[in-house]
Amino acid sequence: MPSPIDLHSHSVISDGTLTPSQLVEHAAARGVRVLALTDHDDVAGLEEAAEAAVRHGIVLINGVEISVTWNGRTVHVVGLKISPDHAPLVQGLAAIRQGRYQRAEGMAASLELAGIHGSLQGAHAYATCGIISRTHFARFLVQQGYAKDVSAVFKKYLVKGKPGYQEHRWAPLEEAVGWITGSGGIAVLAHPGRYDLGRVNMLKLLAEFRELGGTGVEVVTASHTPEQYHHFARLSHQFGLLASLGSDYHGPGQTYSDMGRLPDLPANCRPVWHDWPEMRLAA
Ligand code: AMP
Ligand code: MN
Ligand code: MN
Ligand code: MN
Repeated sequence: MPSPIDLHSHSVISDGTLTPSQLVEHAAARGVRVLALTDHDDVAGLEEAAEAAVRHGIVLINGVEISVTWNGRTVHVVGLKISPDHAPLVQGLAAIRQGRYQRAEGMAASLELAGIHGSLQGAHAYATCGIISRTHFARFLVQQGYAKDVSAVFKKYLVKGKPGYQEHRWAPLEEAVGWITGSGGIAVLAHPGRYDLGRVNMLKLLAEFRELGGTGVEVVTASHTPEQYHHFARLSHQFGLLASLGSDYHGPGQTYSDMGRLPDLPANCRPVWHDWPEMRLAA
């Protein structure tokens, strides 16, 4: 039986392809009972998602996925049960979105040097509802025939050493965790298995994250293999972190898993939702 809980998903407000209402409708149809909308660096979809959740009889958890630079590397921190109008969070996210616009100009200039013209406008045409991201550039590059799909784009473009890559500094870990916890939410380290950190740095990141007020780590996510579920379950115990679960769904036919397909957390995990009253509805 797949888990009825999904605490990581994206709408058109960031780089998903469904509107918040469509996302909630899809989640309900896939058997999800408790859903967190966690758009990258933007909370603008939460109100619409909450209204849709009432219509479809599921629970919507207010979330966000914040882009962070830690030790020169990009990591993602999911905030769950945040208050979307907490001023430091609102201002922090606005600054990240502003940075994204500047980064997009650098990405377009880099693609220009590789002979790819018009990508800033092209990416903006795919990013009309909220943030601009590499995914929007990737969709433009697919449309222009430079790659067969978004995954193929990320092998040839937009990553370090390839055309369209632009160094960027995201929020410091301490600030991102502070905005989340300051708003009454809990901070969860997203898909740790995707960070190419090496063992020592992973332990360092988990220790620092916990120290700064982080609460949980994603154990079951579409980005992890079943082996990684157990690996990060063990690390969550070791660091006194709770375990989270989410699909990282971006829309039909996009990368990562569909909703309503992930297994429950390994039995020995303490879930981030262990004391959430709304989880009675997921039973
Ligand atoms: P950004 O935050 O603008 O750097 O964009 C990151 C987003 O690009 C992620 O949230 C994913 O949705 C997407 N992405 C990153 N790497 C890949 C990949 N290898 N294949 C497909 N999508 C990717
Ligand atoms: Mn994304
Ligand atoms: Mn992520
Ligand atoms: Mn995500």
